[in-house]
Amino acid sequence: MTCGDARGLFSELAESELADAEGAVVRRHLEQCAECAAQFEAFRRMAGAIERLPDPAPSEGARLRIQSVLLSQVEARRAAPEVMDVKELAAYLAITPEELEEEVENLPAFEFAGRLRFRKAAIDRWIGAREEERRRGIELSRLRAWRAPLLAG
Ligand SMILES: [Zn+2]
Repeated sequence: MTCGDARGLFSELAESELADAEGAVVRRHLEQCAECAAQFEAFRRMAGAIERLPDPAPSEGARLRIQSVLLSQVEARRAAPEVMDVKELAAYLAITPEELEEEVENLPAFEFAGRLRFRKAAIDRWIGAREEERRRGIELSRLRAWRAPLLAG
C-alpha cells in the first residue's frame, strides 16, 4: 500500500467503513509511516471539529414557512367551529386528512346526511381522555420498573 492509497482511505477508516482486511492494511501502513500517521491524526481532528459545528440556522425562507405553518395551526385551533368536517378536524389535530382517515374509527363522530362530522367538545373530551391514559401508562411503567427488582428478589 502506497502513502497515496492510504490517504485516499482516511475518511473510510475514520468512519470505520472499511472491510476488516482493508482496514488492517491501512492501519499497518499507519504504524509504519509516521508521515501518514500524523496526517491521519490531523484528518481525524478536523473531521471531529466539523462534526461539532452547529447546524446552520434555517434560511429566512425556511423560517417564514415554518412560521406560517405554525400560525395556520394556531389559527385552525382558535377558529375551529363547534362541528368540524374531516379537513377541519385534521387541521385542528395538526395532522393530514389522510392520517385522520386511518384513525377515524377511533374518534367520536356522528353521521348526518351521509357525511362524517365531529363535535369539537367531544373531540376535546377524547383528547383529554387520551392524555390521561398516556399519563397513567407512563406512571404504571415507572411503577413496574420500580417494583421489578423487589419482585425478582
Ligand atoms: Zn505513508
